[in-house]
Amino acid sequence: MHETSTHRTVPLVNETDWALFLDFDGTLVDIVERPDAVAVDPGLCDVLHRIQIRLGGALAIISGRPIAFLDEKLISDRFDTAGLHGLEYRIGENVFLCQPEDHPRLRDIVPRLDETVSQKPGVLIEDKGCSVAVHWRLAPQEKDFVLATVNAAVESLGPEYRVQFGKAVAEIVPAAAGKGKVIEAFLRQEPYLGRKPIFVGDDLTDENGFKSVNAHGGVSIRIGAGETVAQRRLESPTDLRRCLSTWAAGGALPRLETANV
Ligand SMILES: [Mg+2]
Repeated sequence: MHETSTHRTVPLVNETDWALFLDFDGTLVDIVERPDAVAVDPGLCDVLHRIQIRLGGALAIISGRPIAFLDEKLISDRFDTAGLHGLEYRIGENVFLCQPEDHPRLRDIVPRLDETVSQKPGVLIEDKGCSVAVHWRLAPQEKDFVLATVNAAVESLGPEYRVQFGKAVAEIVPAAAGKGKVIEAFLRQEPYLGRKPIFVGDDLTDENGFKSVNAHGGVSIRIGAGETVAQRRLESPTDLRRCLSTWAAGGALPRLETANV
């Protein structure tokens, strides 16, 4: 890899000092037009598994997707995982799943929301049980319609819910959801306890995680362009996968560009 003076190395002097937290969509995998069509690079699970061993188990996926979806895509339940922006998580044998029946008012509005947005070709609803996302990637002209619809729906639910914005998506989530909070919960438990966090993400929902990781003296890495509080930046999921492969094969975590913020 060509090196320039603008690169720095994440100082992994001792891997047992660090814990690695990774977002999924747009970070480990490329964003695709339909959220259900996401594809995992062959070999990614093996790379993650090798790094997990090097880190003494301190590797977790931190995503907005449900854990069940992530398990299916990563063909594994061996990774610690937080799903639904931190509403549910699994650390080793400890599993805390979000139950849709705990969100009756959200469940009540989903059919109406579905009916409203399905009038617009290309607008897709992703019902995750305890949250509901509306995507306009295939219909960018409908962005204002989606925002107005989702905002009206969340207002009708009151302060226990909020809108989480992302890349061509607006999602109604319980107000308690937050990646920073769940990363902190991981850091209070073995094997994460006492380690410094590295968190890699690509979207608005990850900013909350970056903030928390910065406050814990960790390393925050944003994938792609856009305003961010992350300290460093990688260009694409492909770049990240290359870095992770090098790390998994026995090298240090390769050089990462400093974020231009
Ligand atoms: Mg993402």
